[in-house]
Amino acid sequence: MSKRDYYEVLGVSKNATAEEIKKAYRKKAIQFHPDKNPGDKAAEEKFKEAAEAYEVLSDQQKKSRYDQYGHAGVGGASGGGYGGGGMSMDDIFSHFGDIFGGGGFGGFSGFGGFNGGGGRQRVNKGSNLRVKVTLTLDEILNGVEKKIKVKKYVPCKHCKGSGADGGASHSTCTTCNGSGQVTRISNTILGQMQTASTCPTCGGEGKIITNKCKYCAGEGIEKDEEVIPINIPAGVEEGMQLSVSGKGNAARRGGINGDLLVLIHEEEHPELVRDGRDLLYNLFVSIPDATLGAPVEIPTLEGRVKVKIEAGTQPGKVLRLRGKGLPEVNAYGRGDLLVKINVWIPKDLSRDEKKALEKMAESDSFTPKPSSHEKNFFSRMKDMF
Ligand SMILES: [Zn+2]
Ligand SMILES: [Zn+2]
Repeated sequence: MSKRDYYEVLGVSKNATAEEIKKAYRKKAIQFHPDKNPGDKAAEEKFKEAAEAYEVLSDQQKKSRYDQYGHAGVGGASGGGYGGGGMSMDDIFSHFGDIFGGGGFGGFSGFGGFNGGGGRQRVNKGSNLRVKVTLTLDEILNGVEKKIKVKKYVPCKHCKGSGADGGASHSTCTTCNGSGQVTRISNTILGQMQTASTCPTCGGEGKIITNKCKYCAGEGIEKDEEVIPINIPAGVEEGMQLSVSGKGNAARRGGINGDLLVLIHEEEHPELVRDGRDLLYNLFVSIPDATLGAPVEIPTLEGRVKVKIEAGTQPGKVLRLRGKGLPEVNAYGRGDLLVKINVWIPKDLSRDEKKALEKMAESDSFTPKPSSHEKNFFSRMKDMF
């Protein structure tokens, strides 16, 4: 069996305008729509045939190749069937927005694809749960497992989530005959149209419980507490959200669980400030130490480390302790610890101390003589901190 002529399929002449072709296809699509002809294989074939014809004739390039070379020009030389390069039902429905002008006919695209009869049954989904977890920088450095106790819906223990008391106590919903959907016929300017919506009797499940569990009133869920272990990877940051799949609320009558969403809150460190993967520390040294040089201790997330302050260190200088920062989530390496050196200026001095300083002030060594590098330091420091 060879393919029919596309113009013949749509019932238009070879001189038909684009608008006439579109109109003709609209008519055929409604006439042979699978939801209007349930279980009618011949109508389904005609529906596909019209979609294929329209796909070619609505495209200027394909249409001119078809006009010149026939089916061979558009890659459909071998007759019969629509398999080779043909369109799936989903393809066809996805084009309906163009044909029927978007939302104009409401419900039309709401046929929701085509699944070969029987309708589509809805599966219940539990809602997501949200929890906040507070972490110290030490916990963020290595990652941590937190056990969080949450109040949530769990499957009813008496009916094991089915909502039914005892064994086989389900019956097919008589409103929708088990399809979970009800159809409504309405008159539009394109003729009669059928729209489908969720069955109000069974809520889309296609079945109803004849003998409801009395502990959960047929819902299949009950409130409970659960301790959920959450593995938090190293390097997380304030405001990040992790999702633990399937650990949210249980769904009504054995559906799919919601997720547990974990919001990260970072506790402030008493000495270190986080800046992305780097840590910042303000170090204060005395005037003699900055002048003569001295060993100092710097706090890190892995204990204190000794660092030497060079003689003649200017305040504002930044030391970089490589690899003493934090890791990033799912990345190798660690940031740095940046130590900003500040010189502590005393306020209350004894008379002798004042005298000593006044004596120093007479010395030329204490007169500021900044290099051009040091003069420009402030603008560069802004980038660093
Ligand atoms: Zn129950
Ligand atoms: Zn129903």
